[in-house]
Amino acid sequence: MGKRTQVAIIGAGPAGLLLGQLLLKAGIDNVILERHTAAHVLGRIRAGVLEPGTVDLLDEAGCGARLHREGLVHHGIELSIRGARHRIDFQALTGKSVTVYGQTEVTRDLMDARAAAGAETVYEALEVRPEGFDGAHPVVRYVKDSQAQELECDFIAGCDGFHGISRQSVPESAIAVFERVYPFGWLGILVDAPPVSRELIYANHARGFALCSMRSPTRSRYYIQCDASERPEHWPDEKFWAELKRRLDAGAAAQLVTGPSIEKSIAPLRSFVAEPMRFGRLFLAGDAAHIVPPTGAKGLNLAASDVHYLAEALVAHYRARSDKALDAYSARALARVWKAERFSWWMTSLLHKFPDAGAFGQRIQLAELDYLTGSRAAATALAENYVGLPF
Ligand SMILES: Cc1cc2nc3c(=O)[nH]c(=O)nc-3n(C[C@H](O)[C@H](O)[C@H](O)COP(=O)(O)OP(=O)(O)OC[C@H]3O[C@@H](n4cnc5c(N)ncnc54)[C@H](O)[C@@H]3O)c2cc1C
Repeated sequence: MGKRTQVAIIGAGPAGLLLGQLLLKAGIDNVILERHTAAHVLGRIRAGVLEPGTVDLLDEAGCGARLHREGLVHHGIELSIRGARHRIDFQALTGKSVTVYGQTEVTRDLMDARAAAGAETVYEALEVRPEGFDGAHPVVRYVKDSQAQELECDFIAGCDGFHGISRQSVPESAIAVFERVYPFGWLGILVDAPPVSRELIYANHARGFALCSMRSPTRSRYYIQCDASERPEHWPDEKFWAELKRRLDAGAAAQLVTGPSIEKSIAPLRSFVAEPMRFGRLFLAGDAAHIVPPTGAKGLNLAASDVHYLAEALVAHYRARSDKALDAYSARALARVWKAERFSWWMTSLLHKFPDAGAFGQRIQLAELDYLTGSRAAATALAENYVGLPF
């Protein structure tokens, strides 16, 4: 005999956990099925910059207390352009700020709130298969502890990331895919050392892009653009620090506090959108439907805005008996997704070294950076997108 819930959520990343929490707040029963253990999910070092809209949503989900205590509020970013630094002042340009708070911490707060609410998450749920979503009675089949299980539900939320099963369960003919793969990746390290600067530094350098980011006043995250075929084991810490210093301005290079890395990985850069985001009673949210290169700090924030639209639509279905918002979900989410895709692509194009840009392309890039740092209108366009367009 199978179990039953109102909304079956596949994936316990930020999208699935946040959706689960918003639905619980509205009295909507849900079960999350996650392929990995909770410890594995918490161990993934990923995003770290939250838009104010994401912070508001975490507050709405009742998970914002630690974030407000420990998160670092940033009123701007710095651009390091061929050795000279320029500040983009978000507060002055938009009246808004962003909050630096790691994805691991967001995930932990959401997991804790879910445990406190007594809601069910099935970790190590294997061979998860969403079925029957084109009809009125969807079901999710999975294997737990070698036993076949099934979960009947009203709706399935596919929050299972880029490699998840939800999008793959849709016939290819029903889905349109738009993609750009960039000819480089980001080599990132995490280190227990104070950040080089109070705010993030995005560096455009003749040797390639670099980013100085952080997770807390004592933990820093640094990235350098690398060849797509690079491997972390080819980059001992000393080699990484030397290359990072070459790409920073002299002041930052002198102040950089180095140390042994506690994590080192390479992330490929990709833009990807799958349309639509709804297939009958299956709804995709977050990385399951779209990927952005991390340059604009949009991945986690987009997952949050999808979840906002989806939670609102499911609440309208159960509370107001209206399916208008469910019907509008895909178009509403995609309108915001594409603007974030554009911004992330633009930031990537602006700051990285492209192998095929040539001398003309490099001059155009420098002219655009010069325009950006000299024009309040251009800087405002960057700031408005970085702090996040309205939901
Ligand atoms: C290596 C890496 C680095 C990143 N760095 C940044 C960054 O610096 N800045 C930034 O803004 N964004 C970054 N991102 C993007 C950001 O982390 C994502 O946008 C965010 O995690 C999206 O959340 P999500 O819940 O949609 O997907 P995910 O976090 O991917 O969660 C999906 C969950 O579904 C589970 N799952 C998958 N398949 C199945 C299945 N078949 N059955 C059950 N469960 C399944 C997965 O285990 C996972 O827990 C990075 C992403 C990656 C992969």
